[in-house]
Amino acid sequence: MRLDGDGTFLEVHAPKEDDLAMPATIIIGKNVRDLMAPELVEQHMRASAYVLETGKVYEYEYTLEVLSGVQHFDARLVKSGPNEITSIVRNITEKHRLQEQSEARQVALMLERERRIILERFVQDASHDLRTPLTALMTSGYLLDRYIGLVKTQLPELIDAFQNGRDTQPFIDTINDAIRRLEDRYKMMNASTERLRALVDAMFEMIWLDSEDSLLLQPGHLEGLAESAVYAFQAAAEAHGVQLTLEKTETPVVMLHGEMMQRAIYQLVQNALNVTPAGGHITLRMAVTAQDVVLAVTDTGIGIAEENLTNIFQRFYRVDEARTANNGGSGLGLAIAQRIVALHGGRIEVESEIGRGSTFRIVLPRA
Ligand code: ADP
Repeated sequence: MRLDGDGTFLEVHAPKEDDLAMPATIIIGKNVRDLMAPELVEQHMRASAYVLETGKVYEYEYTLEVLSGVQHFDARLVKSGPNEITSIVRNITEKHRLQEQSEARQVALMLERERRIILERFVQDASHDLRTPLTALMTSGYLLDRYIGLVKTQLPELIDAFQNGRDTQPFIDTINDAIRRLEDRYKMMNASTERLRALVDAMFEMIWLDSEDSLLLQPGHLEGLAESAVYAFQAAAEAHGVQLTLEKTETPVVMLHGEMMQRAIYQLVQNALNVTPAGGHITLRMAVTAQDVVLAVTDTGIGIAEENLTNIFQRFYRVDEARTANNGGSGLGLAIAQRIVALHGGRIEVESEIGRGSTFRIVLPRA
């Protein structure tokens, strides 16, 4: 195409008329301002002025709807007279498409690699966490066997002493001691089994959530779920001497996977209960902003140090190993809750002060 410095088409040649916005005969004599969107006009005029002023070649890419549809072009502007430029335009739609395809492939590969790294780290951390209760179970099994053996050897001795009128007390003491130890070990084994069960359940849940790209969401109200969480945890809270309340407000519709969102809310309430001493409070509150619906779970528990506020969402991270082990927590609870909320297009925010308590907020976009 030849154009003058003002953007008027002087001559147009196209091997395929489909690549033009309208037939060449109509274009000739028209101005770029009559044919193109303002931003393209501006781009052309800037390029044209540069070429006329400097005599250099200027190249740029643009997208335009032409007779054959939306196409990508590459324009090369050359000065061809005192007030005239020649624009050599190539249709690069196919090249563009291939490039986009390869970029998409690269993104997919990157995501795949990221997933693999997450999985590897997950397996590593999981095997470490699984080993602790497993080792406890194995040691307990070994000791159970020893104590049973002890009872087995002491019983005939006891009977023999009894039948022959000897002092039976030492045997009775040994057997009683062994039974006490057996009971202790039995309780520890139960706790370890429970810990293993919780861990394995949480791990499968996490793996499942990782593999899902989306959840089937339906319109619903967050306060209904908050209400049922308060109902479900009321007895446990009372047993702990903790006051659990809901400040219920009606909130706008959000898109929900009821069961999964319930799981996330339960996790926050369970965590709050784990860290709140008797006499404390746990409050669930609803809030609404222009874009979001928010459910805040506030506790008067131990709080979280600033440097741990992001760590706590990491898989298998626990602020205090010993304390959480006793709670039967998997170290996956917050990671699971965060993933569930993310699959709802939302986020979890946390605010905390050590010794005073924490607030975890589930923030969901309004439907
Ligand atoms: P777990 O399943 O073991 O409870 P989470 O992922 O739920 O693990 O929590 C990770 C860590 O964050 C735990 O060490 C826990 O003590 C801490 N945490 C979670 N919620 C609270 C809270 N409300 N107050 C203080 N610490 C918390």
